[in-house]
Amino acid sequence: MNVARSIEYRQVSAGYGQTRAVSGVSFTVQRGERWGVLGRNGAGKTTTLAAAVGLSELQGGDILLDGVSVRGMPSYQRARAGLGYVPQGRDIFASLTVEENILSAIRGGKSSDALEVAYTLFPRLKERRRNGGTQLSGGEQQMLSIARAVVTRPGILLLDEPLEGLAPKVRQEVMESITRMASELGVGCVLVEQYVDVVLSFCEHVVVLESGQVVYAGRTDTLRQEHAQLLENAIGLRKI
Ligand code: ATP
Repeated sequence: MNVARSIEYRQVSAGYGQTRAVSGVSFTVQRGERWGVLGRNGAGKTTTLAAAVGLSELQGGDILLDGVSVRGMPSYQRARAGLGYVPQGRDIFASLTVEENILSAIRGGKSSDALEVAYTLFPRLKERRRNGGTQLSGGEQQMLSIARAVVTRPGILLLDEPLEGLAPKVRQEVMESITRMASELGVGCVLVEQYVDVVLSFCEHVVVLESGQVVYAGRTDTLRQEHAQLLENAIGLRKI
């Protein structure tokens, strides 16, 4: 299995059939970097991530994994190339136990390694390993969803609103696990999240979308220092 070292969005337009949700999106994420995507509801954040895994339509431009175009690559091949994806909502099987959920993600990979990686990052999942998906709290379900992506050992991981619907304390716990995963495994992250403060503190780079267009792509500290007005316009944030 390859481990993707970079993903490049090159002038990407994407959408659904006749609908174009984003256009002209360009940014490059290297392995080990943390990027965030910010924007109001409907700005095109999910569509941007989904285009990389083939769940929205790549209508123009290109997305490259380690310099290779994903056009014509089925989703499983993108995963095999080292692209991980944690979709919005929780991507787990309610009828399977925690352990079965983790093992079902690796398809033929080494199961002892997968469980060790998952349980080291998320000790709570080890305690719940025999519980079914529906017996887990919201936070545990989200941890399991992330674990299922991490055990495929992606080089780049796309996370779509992993904190949605979680209580503040649980949000903090999930972010601590994501931070550990990013630094200990060196995984490059692209995080879409409504919690702007979380994105600004976790990500050293950020893309700001407004009505499907990039209004900023670059360092988070520069955005904070020089473009506060832009943040306020794009996401209604008053104070940074
Ligand atoms: P949110 O914060 O609400 O999740 P978002 O920034 O992730 O929003 P997207 O979900 O990418 O935004 O939506 C961008 C645009 O594409 C919106 O106008 C939305 O209505 C449209 N859209 C999203 N999914 C579909 C779909 N399956 N078919 C057609 N249009 C869609």
